[in-house]
Amino acid sequence: MDVLKFGGTSVKDAKNISRVIDIVSNRDSRQAVVVVSALGGITNQLIEAAALAENGQDSYKTLLTEIETRHLDVIKALITVNRQSSVVAKVKIQLNELEDLLRGMSLVGEVSPRTLDIVQSFGERLSSYIIYEAFKERGFDVTHLDARQIIKTDSNYNNALVDFDTTNALITQWFSSHKGLHIIPGFIASNAENKTTTLGRGGSDYTASILAAALNSSILEIWTDVDGMMTADPRKVSKAFPVEHVSYSEAMELSHFGAKVIYPPTIVPAMAKKIPIAIKNTFNPSSFGTLIKDSVDDNTSSIRGISSIDDICLLTVEGSGLVGVSGVAMRVFRALAQEKINVILITQGSSEHNITFAVLPKEASKSKEILEKEFALERKLNLVDPIRVDKELSIIAVVGENMKNTPGISARLFEALGRNGISVVCTAQGASELNISVVIEKFHVRKGLNAIHEAFFLDKKKRLNLYVVGTGTIGKTLLTQINEQMDYLSNQTNIDVRLVGLANSKRMWFNEDGISLGNWREELDLHGSRANLNEFIQKMKEQNMRNAVFVDNTANATVAATYADILDANINVVTPNKIANSGTFKHYLKLQQLALKKNVYFLYETNVGAGLPIISTLKDMIHSGDKILRIEAILSGTLNYLFSSISEEKPFSKVVKEAKDLGFTEPDPRLDLNGMDVGRKVLILSREIGHQLELSDVSIENLMSSETQASETMDEFWQNLEKYEDGRYAEMISKAKAAGNCLRYVATIENGKVSTGVKEIPPSHPFYSLEGSDNIIKFTSSRYKNNPLTVKGPGAGAEVTAAGVFADIVRIINTP
Ligand code: ADP
Ligand code: ASP
Ligand code: MG
Repeated sequence: MDVLKFGGTSVKDAKNISRVIDIVSNRDSRQAVVVVSALGGITNQLIEAAALAENGQDSYKTLLTEIETRHLDVIKALITVNRQSSVVAKVKIQLNELEDLLRGMSLVGEVSPRTLDIVQSFGERLSSYIIYEAFKERGFDVTHLDARQIIKTDSNYNNALVDFDTTNALITQWFSSHKGLHIIPGFIASNAENKTTTLGRGGSDYTASILAAALNSSILEIWTDVDGMMTADPRKVSKAFPVEHVSYSEAMELSHFGAKVIYPPTIVPAMAKKIPIAIKNTFNPSSFGTLIKDSVDDNTSSIRGISSIDDICLLTVEGSGLVGVSGVAMRVFRALAQEKINVILITQGSSEHNITFAVLPKEASKSKEILEKEFALERKLNLVDPIRVDKELSIIAVVGENMKNTPGISARLFEALGRNGISVVCTAQGASELNISVVIEKFHVRKGLNAIHEAFFLDKKKRLNLYVVGTGTIGKTLLTQINEQMDYLSNQTNIDVRLVGLANSKRMWFNEDGISLGNWREELDLHGSRANLNEFIQKMKEQNMRNAVFVDNTANATVAATYADILDANINVVTPNKIANSGTFKHYLKLQQLALKKNVYFLYETNVGAGLPIISTLKDMIHSGDKILRIEAILSGTLNYLFSSISEEKPFSKVVKEAKDLGFTEPDPRLDLNGMDVGRKVLILSREIGHQLELSDVSIENLMSSETQASETMDEFWQNLEKYEDGRYAEMISKAKAAGNCLRYVATIENGKVSTGVKEIPPSHPFYSLEGSDNIIKFTSSRYKNNPLTVKGPGAGAEVTAAGVFADIVRIINTP
């Protein structure tokens, strides 16, 4: 006889119970055992009601009314009127019994584990009875059997141990004379004195497995609310997907380490009889689900799944008195076992200086007491330190039989954590190589699970979580480009870009599910709150997302000042804003070192030459051992426009005016003419080579004479430009022309000296033919000595700058 178990969500209300009946109806055989949970949420409510009653709070009555209504609603929806009153009457008798019990508890102000089990048992007793009636209503010949008659346990209330000999005998006996469809409550059982016990939270799965094993079923079906056992908890890892085949051992490890989809003891009885366990979705019955069986020959992934226990404590016994002394571990674990403390994980360093183990938080202080007692003598002699308790920790376990003999699993696991700034507190790996567990800070558990999931299930997509600040020309162009490229990235490179935070000077808005890239402006207006940079950063840190990238599209010094803090929180930074890198050398170095230490990226290709590959080229050359001898470059599109436009007929002031009107200059052209922008760019390049220079060390030629620089108003500036510069430049131009040369504003790094200035360029030089607002950079190095490496192209403009920023963002996830 097959056994089918339907969990709480599957029987939550009348609609779902009808689905359950449909699933059973669609089977070929009407011989089956159907084990049911309490209606979803009822067990929690019963426990809560008991706690309220214990504290003498009358509000347990409100809960009781809610519980009653839930059940009566199901009856009303599923049972025809003429039968309703008898079903309601039976249910009411039970509810009255429950009410009496709770009243008694509130009077004595005490709930013993034994009475709590009676209270909890009502969930399954009521659900199984009502579901039984609902089956009858649909014309089934069906039996309602109370599990307490056939499942016998010890008296360890709330978590009783099954007496398999008696239980198996009772099950066999019952079913030898009863055939057909049975509805049986899960979770509940009874002890030798026929007192009600329960099998532990989630225990209905176990009931079903005990029955399947005793009945030698051909299959045990666990019907729940997800498409099977998944690669990770779908509530924490949105990209988790169902695994079709899992071995018993793998399922046991995964469930033991938190995969709630199956109650861990469930595997044992089925495994002993080699009965396959199918995990199926009540709400999607046609999906395959998961089959848990003896062995699996699917080698598509090196691990089967990842699970976590979100809240654990670590206890450490350490001290000089432990080294080389045998029997210490035995004493630790014997003392704990005697008090029934469940140890989740154990590690011991080879120095034998300490033993660390994990327990649930509720058992931490008791464990500490036990060990202090056990090692009281050693403590007195100072051979053992005080027992240390570390809290707020989680365990993540990666599980899979394929890990056996596959090198590199741990490396990949640690790499995924490390890249996301999660440090491993301790780790354990069983000799069976079925499970590698790491203990990390609880704060990081979600991020850790996602990062590991991404690292191991490579065929699935990698997520980039973007926090973008600045929606000016570059910012909005970037968002448009990402929007247009999203599908390609997703389909061709498996990168899933998600904009999770957005801010401009006015408003900011966060959405973990992704802000629409096509509609961000409306979302920001509609949902956004007042912009606040500190709050933005705070929120970003709290969200603690994996592969998080902060993109600064502003030219703002306040934003640039936050990078250190952001990198320190393990968030990557990408920016065209050159303020941070051209500030003090100390700050530049700090950002570089932080990125290295925190294992994140600080990328700023667009600081120099917009999207042109200048910084990355330079880095590649240096990393591969090349030695830079000289850099010469034209790094300002604006200034290049000026110099390629002035002529004897077109004076300097006219060209500046024209450039300003075309939008090629800053609104105040003096900011271009002072040469500072080029100075900052070349300073950054020199720092990339290794020169420890400040901006004051760069010799920057100002294109304005001191008179023009002294202009107080804009009008005065334009007048002075004409008065003092036009003649000067006309003279320079004709001199250059006479020699067949042209003028260019060139930045140079050579022999540790960094300078910028106007130079005459001969026609043979690659800078001679540079058009319009293009940039060019010439690297002379030990490898590119006679024929320098040259990068040339548009060095300004929103499109190319945004594209460079975009490329940096993608680089973060594409770098192994
Ligand atoms: P039921 O009430 O049917 O017994 P549970 O709530 O006990 O259902 O277990 C199913 C839930 O387990 C799923 O809804 C899912 O959120 C959670 N879960 C945790 N880890 C996993 C996993 N690895 N695979 C599938 N589900 C998981
Ligand atoms: N109703 C019980 C619980 O919620 C048992 C179960 O559903 O498996 O823990
Ligand atoms: Mg369950």
